[in-house]
Amino acid sequence: MARQFFVGGNYKMNGTTESITSIIDTLNKAELPANVEVVIAPPAPYLALAVAQNKQKTVEVSAQNVYTKTSGAFTGEISPDQVKDLGATWTLTGHSERRTIFKESDEFIAEKTKFALERGLSVIFCIGETLEERKSGITLEVCARQLDALSKIVSDWTHVVVAYEPVWAIGTGLAATSDDAQDTHKQIRAHLAKTIGEKQASEVRILYGGSANGKNAPDFKDKADVDGFLVGGASLKPLEFIDIVKSRL
Ligand code: PEP
Repeated sequence: MARQFFVGGNYKMNGTTESITSIIDTLNKAELPANVEVVIAPPAPYLALAVAQNKQKTVEVSAQNVYTKTSGAFTGEISPDQVKDLGATWTLTGHSERRTIFKESDEFIAEKTKFALERGLSVIFCIGETLEERKSGITLEVCARQLDALSKIVSDWTHVVVAYEPVWAIGTGLAATSDDAQDTHKQIRAHLAKTIGEKQASEVRILYGGSANGKNAPDFKDKADVDGFLVGGASLKPLEFIDIVKSRL
């Protein structure tokens, strides 16, 4: 089964009612290719706005994070059920900023992912190594550890998209080369074949994330294991984001 090209936009803690409305209007007016799955992740306070503004249904809407409970005394958290209630259908988990700034462990991220899937969300599950880990030559080891935390507790990966985001490339302007990304994606897929099975590993989409932009996205066009992008900074510039969405045409 061919893997559908996927472009996600992670707005992080950026945006206002005005700017998010304007971005979505621009996406709605653009003729985005029907064969690309496009998902945007605004900050939680703007999820309902994004869903309402997405009149042409050009994009799907994602949370950036969820908790492991449906409701209760968990001040500051949001549940997958609330995300769904607002009309969003995806969430990110394990973004490197959650892992590093908020000290989320592999196990906690796996638990969140499992719970989000059980509650009916699809998940962009982020993994990736730091610069130190890369320099020590343990990129695959780190990615495997992060993936294994999930494969130990989730066997059906139908609604999981993996985003490989080397931490050193996020927000730095230093994207991985397309050859490096392909090499790591191939190893990630080979590792998944061992843990979740050949069939699922061949079907799961693996996105590249880390300073992807309108200029470098076409370089990844012919990379067999790069099934799309998770875009941070450039997703706030809708015309550039559209260039990324169209980079496989
Ligand atoms: C991200 O936040 O997931 C990301 C990839 O950021 P940037 O594109 O800005 O590097």
